[in-house]
Amino acid sequence: MIEAVKASGLLGRGGAGFNCGLKWELARKSSGDEKYLIGNADEGEVGAFKDRYLLTHDPFSLIEGLAIASYAVGAAKAYIYLRAEYHFLFEPLTLAVKQAEELGYLKNLNLRIFEGAGAYICGEESALMDSIEGRRGEPRCKPPFPTERGLFGKPTVINNVATLANIPQIILKGPDWFRTMGTEKSRGTKVFSVSGDVERPGVYELPLGSLLKELVVDLAGAREIKAVQVGGASGRILPEPLLDTPLAFEHVLGSGAVLVFNRNRDMIEMNQRNVDFFNEESCGKCTPCREGTEVMKEIFGRLVRGEGQEEDLSALGGLASAMRQGSFCGLGQSAPLPILDSLKYFKQEYDQRLAQSRYLRTLKIVK
Ligand code: SF4
Repeated sequence: MIEAVKASGLLGRGGAGFNCGLKWELARKSSGDEKYLIGNADEGEVGAFKDRYLLTHDPFSLIEGLAIASYAVGAAKAYIYLRAEYHFLFEPLTLAVKQAEELGYLKNLNLRIFEGAGAYICGEESALMDSIEGRRGEPRCKPPFPTERGLFGKPTVINNVATLANIPQIILKGPDWFRTMGTEKSRGTKVFSVSGDVERPGVYELPLGSLLKELVVDLAGAREIKAVQVGGASGRILPEPLLDTPLAFEHVLGSGAVLVFNRNRDMIEMNQRNVDFFNEESCGKCTPCREGTEVMKEIFGRLVRGEGQEEDLSALGGLASAMRQGSFCGLGQSAPLPILDSLKYFKQEYDQRLAQSRYLRTLKIVK
């Protein structure tokens, strides 16, 4: 099983893109009889609803993937970590697990559904394990990695829902079949959730390497695009001239959430909403993210109210690189990415806000 998944080239579909078969192998080789498998259904990224679609329409692909993965790594207990906002899926998922048990598919596996409490950070694998252990979810130091010391100190594999949903097909049809799709470095297909200024928002599955414009223009029906954000609130912002970018790990991908903004959208207000979100969701463990998101929130608030200062833009740039380099986990490291992209591609909107602020200050002085 592990060799087949390694040969397929399947990379994690949650965003990080770690080699799935290699992760299984590391856990398999870790010492100890007790091991765990976790299906990460804490889909908290802004604009992401691909896992919700899979959980709603095809829960058995997840259950089968978990059963195969557990067998491969030698785990007798597995969890589906369901985000609190997907509580409405708890009952149907419980029923699907019960049906699989009654039909004898889970003879050697104790599979349980664990509901989160509504924290974005618990999508991060070590914080997720804290949450299952009954503690407040905060990222842990790595190493040790979960494959060595994870849930309750035991070797643990955490795979995203969409990663696990690929497993039954890879085992059924073989790794060579899977490798016929995608690019050299990004094999297979990927499920995307597209929302925003499109005629046909929804869930689409495409071979990796497909162009961004095939997804947002041809399939989702976007018109008069100003920018597309790939990967949710912390994803890269691509302006309209870059719509020919391939959707692949070696180019741009992330979690699969794709947000489309038309020409009427204001990039400053869009970034303000993102910063407010990350300020709210920062777990507070490290200073660059806890304080950085707070100061960014203040700066965007000033820009939107027409009270921006000339030095705000350089402060934003400095804060963004400090957070990128100094934050403890992926939240703080990636939250500034859209700000840096918008400063690169839409600097004129920041300049307009500053000009407006200067004008308003002049009016106040005249009064
Ligand atoms: Fe917590 Fe943010 Fe630091 Fe991550 S980067 S540990 S979310 S404060």
